[in-house]
Amino acid sequence: MPIAAARTRKRVKKFTVKGCELCDSGPVGVLWQDSFCRVVSVGDADYPGMCRVILNRHVGEMTDLTPRERSRLMKVVFATESALRVVARPDKINLASLGNVVPHLHWHVIPRYLDDGHFPRPIWAQPVRSPRRRAAPDGRKLARRLKALLGNA
Ligand SMILES: [Zn+2]
Repeated sequence: MPIAAARTRKRVKKFTVKGCELCDSGPVGVLWQDSFCRVVSVGDADYPGMCRVILNRHVGEMTDLTPRERSRLMKVVFATESALRVVARPDKINLASLGNVVPHLHWHVIPRYLDDGHFPRPIWAQPVRSPRRRAAPDGRKLARRLKALLGNA
């Protein structure tokens, strides 16, 4: 194996954790990505359009990142919010970074509607009504919008 390839493989291994579902997740639902992070469509029928912005390497907290990396990640979070506002036309957007269950840095970008199952509560609270069903926004439109805002990876 060439030395450069061995170094690359070792570097990737160092920043991933075996058994972490976000380290191990494949390309399913990816709308945009670069070497730093990716935007994934979650495919939740109750929250159509819900996306996650996932850091590619295994890091637990925003303050584990350099200030420059924090800005880079938030640029992608805000671009995802902007794309969803245009394509999904929600009443509200929720941004959340919890990581209590999966301690791998990721942001939830959630289109919210006045008649969704939890509004005005967080989506993880007890539901307050049966949600009105909506079609998921067009993933190709979201991907195009993200590419326009963030450029190619
Ligand atoms: Zn991970």
